[in-house]
Amino acid sequence: MNTNTTPTQGQAESGPSFATLALSPAVLANLEQLGYKDMTAIQAASLPTALAGKDLIAQAKTGSGKTAAFALALLAKLNPRYFAVQAAVLCPTRELADQVTTEIRRLARAEENIKVVTLCGGIALRGQRASLEHGAHIVVGTPGRIMDHLERGYLNLDALQTLVLDEADRMLDMGFFDDIATVTKQCPKERQTLLFSATYPEGIEKLAKQFMREPVQVKVESQH
Ligand code: ADP
Ligand code: MG
Repeated sequence: MNTNTTPTQGQAESGPSFATLALSPAVLANLEQLGYKDMTAIQAASLPTALAGKDLIAQAKTGSGKTAAFALALLAKLNPRYFAVQAAVLCPTRELADQVTTEIRRLARAEENIKVVTLCGGIALRGQRASLEHGAHIVVGTPGRIMDHLERGYLNLDALQTLVLDEADRMLDMGFFDDIATVTKQCPKERQTLLFSATYPEGIEKLAKQFMREPVQVKVESQH
């Protein structure tokens, strides 16, 4: 694994501009509208690798902008005219999945009609199934509920290009290793896997060995 260590940079400080990346003018204009002028440190460390289609393990503290780091990469590859699930984001909790969905939708505004469906427990399966039937490009959810939809045949991941394991350390803490493994085994082997985490416990190495291909590893050190 390659390791790149980048010093932490507060969001008030200026990092490199998003315009240094291979993003479309529409996406860049949307970022500007959102007030995202410069990349945060983890975005600057991750996006060139993620946009190049490589597998990535990115580690940085909470609040450092990890969502946009994977969302911009998966959106760049996505074909809105192809009505199939092309990306899946696994999150530890419903609250986090809702936050990720909101952020992806904001970042996807520049594109035509990208459908993001949230799949979490505690909510009736029926509505989620109907949303999937209407066509989803991206699913965001907890491993257990995504697995449930796969087992029932409501969700198909054969066209998936990008798999994101967000807050991987928390998912492992919550005992989701086996569920992550089950979902991952239903994804095509030819895919990009992006793993984001605030810390780097042992289990992440195990996930990387089993489910990632020569991941590039980036880490933004916390100043505290
Ligand atoms: P993390 O997943 O690392 O905890 P988030 O992706 O939730 O962090 O981002 C934290 C906050 O920073 C969000 O409110 C998000 O909108 C904002 N943010 C992300 N990237 C940028 C950026 N480049 N410029 C300004 N704000 C940003
Ligand atoms: Mg996050």
